[in-house]
Amino acid sequence: MIPFSPPHIDQEIIDEVVDTLKSGWITTGPKTKLFERNLTNFNQNKATLALNSATAGLELVLRWFGVTAGDEVILPAYTYAATANVVIHCGATPVFVDSNADDFNISIKEIKKAINEHTKVIMPVDFAGFPIDFDELNQLVKYQDIKQLFNPKSENQQKLGRILILSDSAHSLGAKYNGKMTGTLCDITVFSFHAVKNLTTAEGGAIAFNLPEPFDNQEVYSEMNILALHGQNKDALAKTQKGNWRYDIITAGYKANMTDILASIGLVELKRYNSDILIKRKQIFDTYTKAFEEYDWAEIPVYETITKQSSYHVYSLRIKNISEAQRDAIIQNIFDKEVSVNVHFQLVPSFTFYKNLGYNKENYPIALDNSQRVISLPVFYNLTENQINTVINAVIDSVHENLITK
Ligand SMILES: *Cc1c(COP(=O)(O)O)cnc(C)c1O
Repeated sequence: MIPFSPPHIDQEIIDEVVDTLKSGWITTGPKTKLFERNLTNFNQNKATLALNSATAGLELVLRWFGVTAGDEVILPAYTYAATANVVIHCGATPVFVDSNADDFNISIKEIKKAINEHTKVIMPVDFAGFPIDFDELNQLVKYQDIKQLFNPKSENQQKLGRILILSDSAHSLGAKYNGKMTGTLCDITVFSFHAVKNLTTAEGGAIAFNLPEPFDNQEVYSEMNILALHGQNKDALAKTQKGNWRYDIITAGYKANMTDILASIGLVELKRYNSDILIKRKQIFDTYTKAFEEYDWAEIPVYETITKQSSYHVYSLRIKNISEAQRDAIIQNIFDKEVSVNVHFQLVPSFTFYKNLGYNKENYPIALDNSQRVISLPVFYNLTENQINTVINAVIDSVHENLITK
């Protein structure tokens, strides 16, 4: 069976993890702080906080910004549930919007229609690693009529004076827009290092700060660092220094810090990310594209344009003019040929919890259509040429078996 996205753990990672295990310091410490600095250098943003997940990062930012009951957060219907769940955790209301037909990303035109006096945050997602139209979105929240609608309630909301753009870049570390890295493209960006993501630490995430003046990003970093560890004004490592045992709790904070064991994996992964990992992933994408573009039924995903370059996270092949039932049958046939595939994503409003809140997937027709016709293909570091060919043949044969017999 060809797996969908197994991790790539080699001797270099094992050695780095063992080094941490033997060092006498396994939780947040020097390696986490080095990983943060390396991420900041990689993205060229102002400061980066490493955490135990992207989900925690998104929620911490919403709480830091004072998002609460009565507030609305705009996000795509076409995303993983984490993006919406964190809004629910804060007691606020997720406002889902539809997608673009071509690139799966959130429609900026639909965002504009959804903005009202309750909107506090817009949370776009760079689907599959392909950046959204950041220039357009950054401009939108600065329009005078939209700024006038903004009704600040917290200190940070007052300080920003407009809707916050918080990018869920769980897929898009290393992607580029107008030559700039994700992490520098809006106010705050959150990355995921979950096991199936491009760069993994098993579980993990990071917040990349890029707030405009008058915010001091270093100061916001320190504030969030404390918020991510029980509101404790000294971390565990600082407390071990001689006579430095006394600490204070300055807020009822959360528990979301990254450990040095996990950061060791990230340090190795980041070092070879551009020069090795992304190159491999692009090669796989290009091979799939070359094979499928010969077929009328194949809708090839967009992953490179003049202004945008993907991080090649998910290869989302759509089959033209098929029903959801046909797509499901094709997926079954592909699995029968010993190839694992997936669907990114089932719409968040289609899940029981969100349906029970009154959301209806039919309100997002483009996202729904994408979701019903898409198949995500295996992309991982050790995928061999032979395996790629097996995947390609399994997809072609499965589509033909279903489209010709039905
Ligand atoms: C994976 C993912 C997340 C959650 O990341 P974690 O690190 O697992 O919390 C959030 N949003 C999207 C779009 C994702 O794919």
